[in-house]
Amino acid sequence: MCKNIADFTTFGIGGAARRIAVTENADALMDECGRGECVVLGGGSNVLVSDDGYDGTVILNRYADISVSGETVTAGSGARLSVLCKRAASAGLTGLEFAVGIPGSVGGAVRMNAGAFGGSIGDSLLYADVLRGGKIVRMTNAELALSYRESALLPSDTVISAAFMLKRADTEAVNARMCELAAIRRRLQPIGKSAGSVFKNPCGMSAGKLIDEAGFKGYSVGGAKVSDRHANIIVNTGGATAKDVIAVINAIKQAVSARGVILKEEIIYIGEFT
Ligand SMILES: Cc1cc2nc3c(=O)[nH]c(=O)nc-3n(C[C@H](O)[C@H](O)[C@H](O)COP(=O)(O)OP(=O)(O)OC[C@H]3O[C@@H](n4cnc5c(N)ncnc54)[C@H](O)[C@@H]3O)c2cc1C
Repeated sequence: MCKNIADFTTFGIGGAARRIAVTENADALMDECGRGECVVLGGGSNVLVSDDGYDGTVILNRYADISVSGETVTAGSGARLSVLCKRAASAGLTGLEFAVGIPGSVGGAVRMNAGAFGGSIGDSLLYADVLRGGKIVRMTNAELALSYRESALLPSDTVISAAFMLKRADTEAVNARMCELAAIRRRLQPIGKSAGSVFKNPCGMSAGKLIDEAGFKGYSVGGAKVSDRHANIIVNTGGATAKDVIAVINAIKQAVSARGVILKEEIIYIGEFT
C-alpha cells in the first residue's frame, strides 16, 4: 500500500491505496483504466474513503484541456469546474455560472450531475465521451439520463471528456453573476474540510432542514462534526476518521427516519465499510 488517499480528497479522510496514478491526458487515463481494479478521482470532493483505504489503483485525473469553438466548450474530464466556468465566461458564453465554487472536475460533475442555484450540468451538456468496456462511446445528454445527482453511467464507466453547448452573453454580465453566486457560497458554506452535502434532498424537502430540525447542528463524533452553518454538511474538524463520519451519518439517518423520512447519501463511498 502507498500514499494516503486522504490527501486527494476535500474531506481529508481515508487510508492508503495499493497504487496511485496521475493521468495528464486522455491516452494515459484510458490506459490506467484498462489495467484492472481502479477508481477515478477528479477533485475528490464528493467521496468518503474507508480508513482501510482502497485495494486497487486510485487514478488522479488531471486531463484538463479545454477548447472553445463557437458556442461549444469541450473539456477533458479532469478539468476543474471553476476553471471551466471562468473560461466560458471569458469566451462570452453563459450556462455554467452555477458551477463557480463547486470544487469538482468535469468527470465527477457529469457522473453526479452536479448542480447549484437552479442550474446543473445536464442543462448544457451536449455529450460525454465515455470509456465503457475498453471502447469510447459518445453518450448524448439524453443517453446519460441526467437527473438529480444521478446519471446512467455504470460504476465502471469513465468520462474521458465532455462537450457543453452554451449561449452567447456579455462576459462582464457572466462574471458579475459568478461573483454574486460565489459570495452566496461564502456566506452559506462552512469553512473546513468536507465533501459538501452528505445527503440528497428527499423529494420536495431540504435534507439540511430535516437534519437541523432533528437537532443535529453541532453534533459530533470524534473529529466529524455536523456544521453549525449548514446541517447537511459534515466537517472534518481535524483527525476525523471515516468511522467517525459513518457514526454521524448513521445517527442522522436513524433520527430522521424516526420522523418518517429516509435520507440517502449523495456522497460516494470508496473502499470497504464494514
Ligand atoms: C465545499 C463543497 C461544495 C460543494 N458544492 C456542491 C454543489 O453546489 N453542487 C453539487 O452538485 N455538488 C457540490 N459538491 C460536491 C462535489 O463537488 C460534486 O459532486 C462534484 O461534481 C464532484 O466532482 P469530483 O471531480 O470532485 O468527483 P470525485 O469526488 O473525485 O468523485 C465522485 C464520484 O465520481 C466518480 N468520478 C470522478 N471522475 C470521474 C470520471 N472522469 N468518470 C467517471 N466517474 C468519475 C468517482 O469515481 C466517484 O464515484 C460540493 C463539495 C464540496 C466539498
